[in-house]
Amino acid sequence: MDKTEVLIIGQGPAGLSAAIYTGRAGIKTEILGCNPKVAGDYDIDNYFGFPETVSGKELLDLGLKQALRFGTHTECDRVVSIHYGESGGFTVKTETKEIETCSIILSTGLSRKKAPIPGLEKFEGKGISYCVSCDGFFFKNKKVVVAGEGNYAANQALELHEYTNDVTICTLGKKTAISQEFMDRLDIHGIKIIEDSILNLEGDDNLSGIVYSGIGAAPADGIFIALGEASSLDFAASLGLFTKDGFITVDRDMKTNIPGIFAAGDCTGGFLQISKAVGEGAVAAKSAIDFIRETCR
Ligand code: FAD
Repeated sequence: MDKTEVLIIGQGPAGLSAAIYTGRAGIKTEILGCNPKVAGDYDIDNYFGFPETVSGKELLDLGLKQALRFGTHTECDRVVSIHYGESGGFTVKTETKEIETCSIILSTGLSRKKAPIPGLEKFEGKGISYCVSCDGFFFKNKKVVVAGEGNYAANQALELHEYTNDVTICTLGKKTAISQEFMDRLDIHGIKIIEDSILNLEGDDNLSGIVYSGIGAAPADGIFIALGEASSLDFAASLGLFTKDGFITVDRDMKTNIPGIFAAGDCTGGFLQISKAVGEGAVAAKSAIDFIRETCR
């Protein structure tokens, strides 16, 4: 298993800013994430130090180059789950490997998309869940569906399979985007994929069935929502991080309520701008550096 001192999740402005500080302080730093959104098409006119308009892509390329100069390691890979390590620290599962780390900086940007499932709210806590580590146990030997199209959904389905053999993935009408490696693992466990959308949910108090666009009605006891990539809120649910109004709760030092986990940027809410993300990344890094020097060495 790979080992690092700090794992930074998200290669946007917050994550890269944090990496510049941790790398420069001689902390072993791994940054994961792919295609940050400011690397898209839009131009930035309000970031300090750029008198002329700069493209988001150019800004992030410069930040990445700077972070790499200080010996940080970066990869285009996505985190699918985080668990507490057996001997302290954290074990982070990505789409391709497992990493052991002493501390984590969450810089995953804005969180969770709303699942396009009619009537979802009625069954929240009554069959609808967002966290296998938290609720998987309640679905022992039950019929469950994981809603999502990518490797995050595949990983959730595999984790659920430890509680029940009856797991299906529903992509909610999207094309499956699961890697071959995960597909092979799903096959071994007999986990099927349905590419239908969900038209309706059935049940009196608790969820009892799903009406799909293609195959029609089918019984179901639970749906685990796992759209796109795992977000900071998904990690918060499985680790027990405090959140408020959909954002990670942090103190002035960007510390969460769990020692060793820090958060920065859009995932902490407030002013959703690059300058704030960069500033918070620096503060989170300072706190992580102190934590690592006191706790992990
Ligand atoms: P992000 O930039 O969102 O980066 C987070 C990264 O984490 C993403 O790349 C994401 O893919 C990755 N990630 C998420 N989950 C995982 C996972 N499980 N594993 C690995 N990686 C993961 N701000 C300005 O200051 N000026 C502007 O002009 C401006 N214009 C904007 C225009 C638009 C259309 C939008 C949408 C935003 C704009 N913003 C602007 C806001 C700015 O883009 C954000 O505030 C900033 O990008 C936040 O940085 P961040 O690092 O917190 O998150």
